Amino acid sequence: MNLLLIRLIIFAVLFFAGLKLYRMYREWKQDQNADGQQDASPGNPMVRCAWCKVHLPESDALREKGEWFCSPDHRDKYLAERSSEE
Ligand SMILES: [Zn+2]
Repeated sequence: MNLLLIRLIIFAVLFFAGLKLYRMYREWKQDQNADGQQDASPGNPMVRCAWCKVHLPESDALREKGEWFCSPDHRDKYLAERSSEE
């Protein structure tokens, strides 16, 4: 009788340990997936055009005077407006 009880306890402990491990594994896998999505564009963050406010990859953007632009046209317009304000 005592042996049966011990076996039951061991079985229950193993069951809950397995359940906990399974949950930890699922959370770990979700974290991995989240990291994978964040690394979809490594070293290529999104920047915003100072003229039309459109977001585009940094590699496609133009940088001028600390601002980002989607095209030379918008860069020229922005700089022209800024110089006219000064
Ligand atoms: Zn633009």
